[in-house]
Amino acid sequence: MNPKSHQILFHSPELRIPLQSVTLSFVSDRTLSHLKHSLFNVSPQFVSSFYFTLNGKPLLDETPLLTTQFAPFSTLLLRSRLFGGGGDGGATGAESRDCYLNMYAEKKPDKVDPNEQRLSKWLNCALSNEPLREPCVIDNLGNIFNKVALVEALIGKKLPKEFGHIKGLKDMINVKLDLIPGVDDGISGAKFQCPIAGLEFNGKYRFFALRNCGHVLSAKASKEVKSSCCLVCHKEFEELDKIVINGNDEEVVVLRERMSKTTKEKKKKKMMIKKVKNGNVDVDDDGVSLEGKRLSGTKHGVDDKAVAKVEGNGRVGLKGVSDVAAKRFKATDIAPANATKDVYASIFTSSRKSDFKETYSCRSLPLGRN
Ligand SMILES: [Zn+2]
Repeated sequence: MNPKSHQILFHSPELRIPLQSVTLSFVSDRTLSHLKHSLFNVSPQFVSSFYFTLNGKPLLDETPLLTTQFAPFSTLLLRSRLFGGGGDGGATGAESRDCYLNMYAEKKPDKVDPNEQRLSKWLNCALSNEPLREPCVIDNLGNIFNKVALVEALIGKKLPKEFGHIKGLKDMINVKLDLIPGVDDGISGAKFQCPIAGLEFNGKYRFFALRNCGHVLSAKASKEVKSSCCLVCHKEFEELDKIVINGNDEEVVVLRERMSKTTKEKKKKKMMIKKVKNGNVDVDDDGVSLEGKRLSGTKHGVDDKAVAKVEGNGRVGLKGVSDVAAKRFKATDIAPANATKDVYASIFTSSRKSDFKETYSCRSLPLGRN
């Protein structure tokens, strides 16, 4: 080996450059940058996106090739910088992965004491967060509000999305809370109680409101006194009239399902009423209008019955169907005396289906077609 020179090696699996050697003379003032440029005959910008490492340590482009760092036959690795992924100049690549992930992690709000949060739901309005003050209302999901705050938000259209199911007064249930005797407005703790069991309305006990009368009772009271009447006003209620206040996730899911079911039913009813008002006979379950049946004669109605009969008997009563069809009424069967059947039939549009022509006048259309 020439004593005045030594060799270093480099390779780049990323660029598919196999192991190569560079022979350095002791008078060379070349740097790693020169070496890079000698490898790529392209723009400097492209060249700058690669760097050398030695034993995993990145090297600056200005590092002279003839440095004590490079022992003879040191192997350099040529690597590409990962843009936007660290190691792109902004980061040295020396940070731990954990630091890196933390840098981009979303900042979480300070942890809220779950106990405090639960308590707040029972003492304060779910919307305004102000202490509960009568008159109070609940929504169909069991959230409790100060009525004034809720109505104001509703009018001002400032209701947050989570309360989007409250569209008007009809979606609020006025509740009657039982004030704990001797407690005034200034106190921060529970102000209301179960009128029967005396349990405080503070989140430690389950409470529900009755939809019809608005009385708020503890679950304990209703368990002890099994009754289908309100324990305060003795008004009757059904199980579905009980709305759990500030229920857990599962209870809210149940309430939400019940609410959407009721909304759908109401919509359907509304549509039916509208149709009847418009003079249309309402729509039956199959979505087939009764009027449609009437227009096409009694045929369909009768056929339906015949089919039902077949299914009901379990026997195939095709005879029944044909009998019924034969009995179908035809006006021409009772043509008046002195009128030929054809002439009499011509009065009825149904008699001449084949030679019917559409004209400019819609009145000439047969009944079922206009
Ligand atoms: Zn009641």
